[in-house]
Amino acid sequence: MTSKTLLPGSTSDRGQQLTLGVMGGGQLGRMFVHSAQAMGYFTAVLDPDPASPAGRVSHYHIQTAYGDEQGLAQLMQRCDAITTEFENVPAPALMTLAAHRPVAPGANAVAVAQDRVKEKALFVACAADSGVNPAPYATITTPELLAAVPASLLPGILKTSTLGYDGKGQVRVTTRDELAAAWDQLGHVPCVLEQMLPLVAECSVIVARSADGACVHFPVQRNLHRDGILSVTEIYEENMPPALAEKAVAAAKFIASDLHYVGVLCVEFFVVDDGSADGALVVNEMAPRPHNSGHYTQNACTLSQFDLQVRAMAGLPLVQPRQHSPAVMLNLLGDLWFAADGSERSPAWDAVLALPGTHLHLYGKLQARRGRKMGHLNITAATAAEARATALQACEVLGLPPF
Ligand code: ATP
Ligand code: MG
Repeated sequence: MTSKTLLPGSTSDRGQQLTLGVMGGGQLGRMFVHSAQAMGYFTAVLDPDPASPAGRVSHYHIQTAYGDEQGLAQLMQRCDAITTEFENVPAPALMTLAAHRPVAPGANAVAVAQDRVKEKALFVACAADSGVNPAPYATITTPELLAAVPASLLPGILKTSTLGYDGKGQVRVTTRDELAAAWDQLGHVPCVLEQMLPLVAECSVIVARSADGACVHFPVQRNLHRDGILSVTEIYEENMPPALAEKAVAAAKFIASDLHYVGVLCVEFFVVDDGSADGALVVNEMAPRPHNSGHYTQNACTLSQFDLQVRAMAGLPLVQPRQHSPAVMLNLLGDLWFAADGSERSPAWDAVLALPGTHLHLYGKLQARRGRKMGHLNITAATAAEARATALQACEVLGLPPF
């Protein structure tokens, strides 16, 4: 489907209010819906969960499985353009939708992001232009390939090729015996073994690309993970050596362009200790959607990552966003809803919101569970030092470890 401009607030050829659809009803879908509605679009969400965060705030909520033909037909009937909020949406479902409606990002780009083997091949191809390689790796799909793994990849991390997230589907291995046991444990599914790298830092870059090839970006985000889940993102000029930051932005744009990508794309990088002052940049993985590390854009930039997703799929101009305030984002996991003795509690939002420059975003999830993403706190300030200081105060109030 070729896309035409979907002007905010207008009606479609079918006489309906212009409607943007999203596959998936999680928090990313919810924040996308908020941005779309702020611009006057109607929204439709497809998610089987009646209590899904996005479904509850959307004009329409289609409650079927992602591959359900009737559900997909309803979504197409309702919507003038469709996006996705999670990468494990079945690629065939996106292809079905794309036959009748503009879909951004496209099924082919999502299929690459769903599969580490394809993703690594893309990164290797793009490294010729960007100079940024993935970690040394081997693909393991057969016992022969397992046996042929070079010793240089150990110690390493065995990662399933599909369906991994937040550190799930990964096993750290030191010896060949451990590697074989780990592949047994993962059920002999296709995997990649990556060399364990000495990380100095992790960062990500979010770009948005339009169908005509225009590409804009947000500044480089410095990310701290705890237990395999994003915990803190810091965004201000001094967060990374400038030369590395520039290289990361350029690499993300090469990847988006190689994929003919339309929409918001996040690319994650490692900074690895290679003996140099800055360290070396390594590309880790990508997410074909807005990303947790980009949530600060809601309060610290002239446009949020969700606004840009709306613009990209509606064929509206993508203008380069500007970060107007140094920012820190704290992820709010379900753990905060439990006291030390295991009893449930409400975090002290009143004390957090008494701190200047704090912006609370909760996703409307009814049940807190440990490790579950319940919301995030954006902290903005006039200077990086102030943003950090306020964020550390918020950590103390909430019982989060300092960073
Ligand atoms: P996400 O939720 O970001 O999709 P994921 O489960 O797909 O995560 P990765 O991002 O590949 O997994 O890895 C999770 C974390 O494990 C990384 O953020 C990093 O801290 C660590 N890690 C992954 N690969 C390596 C490596 N090759 N060397 C060192 N550390 C690594
Ligand atoms: Mg990751």
